[in-house]
Amino acid sequence: MPGRGRFLSIVALTLGAFGLFSFAEGPARGQETRARFDDYEIVRITARSMEDIEDIEKSGGNILNCVHGPGPMDVLVSPNERRALSRRGFRMETVNRHVQSMVDVQYASSEAVVAGGDPFDDFFLAYHPYGDAETVGSIVWYMNELVTRYPSLASFINVGTTVEGRSILGLRITSDVLSEKPGVFYFSAEHAREWVTPPVTLFFANHLLENYGIDSGVTETVDNVEFFLVPVMNVDGYIYTWTTNRFWRKNRRHNGGTSFGVDLNRNWSQGWGGPGSSGSTTSDIYRGPSPFSEAETQAMRDFFIDHPNIRAQLDIHSFSQLILWPFGSSNTLPEDQDVYQEVGSGMRAEIFAVHGRTYIEGPTYSTIYPASGVSTDWTYDELGILSFAYECRDANTGQGLSGFDLPADQIIPQGEEMVPALMYLANSNWVRQATPPPSVAAAGSRYLEIHPAAGFSSISLRITSPDYPCLDKYVTEDGFLDSTPTVQSSSSWGTMYVGDEAILPETTYFVEADYGVSGTSTSVMVTTGKLADVAAEFGLINFSDVSTMVDCFRGEAGELPLAWCDISPLVPNRVVNFEDISVAINMFRGLPSPYGPPCP
Ligand SMILES: [Zn+2]
Repeated sequence: MPGRGRFLSIVALTLGAFGLFSFAEGPARGQETRARFDDYEIVRITARSMEDIEDIEKSGGNILNCVHGPGPMDVLVSPNERRALSRRGFRMETVNRHVQSMVDVQYASSEAVVAGGDPFDDFFLAYHPYGDAETVGSIVWYMNELVTRYPSLASFINVGTTVEGRSILGLRITSDVLSEKPGVFYFSAEHAREWVTPPVTLFFANHLLENYGIDSGVTETVDNVEFFLVPVMNVDGYIYTWTTNRFWRKNRRHNGGTSFGVDLNRNWSQGWGGPGSSGSTTSDIYRGPSPFSEAETQAMRDFFIDHPNIRAQLDIHSFSQLILWPFGSSNTLPEDQDVYQEVGSGMRAEIFAVHGRTYIEGPTYSTIYPASGVSTDWTYDELGILSFAYECRDANTGQGLSGFDLPADQIIPQGEEMVPALMYLANSNWVRQATPPPSVAAAGSRYLEIHPAAGFSSISLRITSPDYPCLDKYVTEDGFLDSTPTVQSSSSWGTMYVGDEAILPETTYFVEADYGVSGTSTSVMVTTGKLADVAAEFGLINFSDVSTMVDCFRGEAGELPLAWCDISPLVPNRVVNFEDISVAINMFRGLPSPYGPPCP
């Protein structure tokens, strides 16, 4: 046995007894610094209580399940730890007695792909290190390839910075990138060692990009949804699993002494400190010194807050084949339990239809066990985002008994069964058909301003007024405006110019915003302001006066100050032109128009 490897194995044994693996923090690069697990086994223990869980941790066993709770737990143990567990009366079933071989195969698979095949096409045949844009075969390299190959659809996002100063990178995927649309945020590897999860997210990214313009469903979705995809949230921890310890779960905060790491999915503020989290720095579910104490959770929190169009999020973990939703910190059902149940079962059915894998869905607390300070509780409770956590393959009960040890040849089937579920969530009514009322205001300047509510990319309008029956014909979808009015997206949200208010007599209007996605109308009462000002100043009170104004716009009238005539701000919006104005005037006057029958 190589001396150095043996030394590290002994270190692992020693520190493992305290539930932590803290290797030299110095130059942790290259496989020579990786912990070895030559004598280790993964055993399955049925925990009956939280006390059992604590006993397992005290014995030095490293629980590999994402959620720690009563039930079958897969535990990484050294021979000494196994004996300690045995002395405590635990019955153990060996799942894998070749842990080092499993780890070696996983590390080597990436290099084999890079060496032997097309690193892009064969990307999902192996697990991959985080890397950078230049490191062929790495996760960041793959993202960079996607951005390079699909520049009109994909771009990099930087969510923020980790405790060790690295960027948390991801992809934004959508067409017509200037428009605002409902957003979904899918992210993975919040727990460093859950290696199958970054490929799931990237597999989905590639699916969207390579099928855009080919598959009508993908095209329609990418046209109407803004995807934020972050394959590795816990960048430092994930890198640490490649350089130093395959089984590292937490981030890389220094807790003092030899202790490192906070469980990021116990550090969000909703329910922080509750059951299913630990105040002990050595625990794998250590929640951190305070809510949002960690750079990574702060960055994610701020990203969610800064993107109010995000309507659904999915926090991807492994393993156990579960679809979970709030709450984890208490047995309270979410207000939107019916929605969660519907979408959750829908996703479960989508997954099952691909490869027959059975996932179980439900609120975290009642489906598994309490877990407090989790992302889903916070994004739902604080921001109203429909929030799910997946536990990917494998399982340690029912189907797929290999538990934590998921061979790389399951990455593709895992990705394949996730794609329709991730599409299902993005196309759920919650994301696509929500209808918060548009913000409509008479700006008191030149036009009626309509701000579609966040999350919508297109909107068509119908303006009616009890005083003007014909108005219904004049700004309907097929009428005065372009069939699909253009949303101006130069600022953070679009301002839609419905038309020059000079042709909208001052009265009460009902604006129905007919969202491109939902088909649901919302009526909002508005009044215009500009004409009143004009009328007061120039005595414009009837249609012929309006027509005078149109002449002014044409540069013919000469009676009004030029400032009133400037409609150049409207032109880029393609909504109003001189011809449209005169057609509208004619319709008001009851004359024929190409847009509909004359007024009665
Ligand atoms: Zn996890």
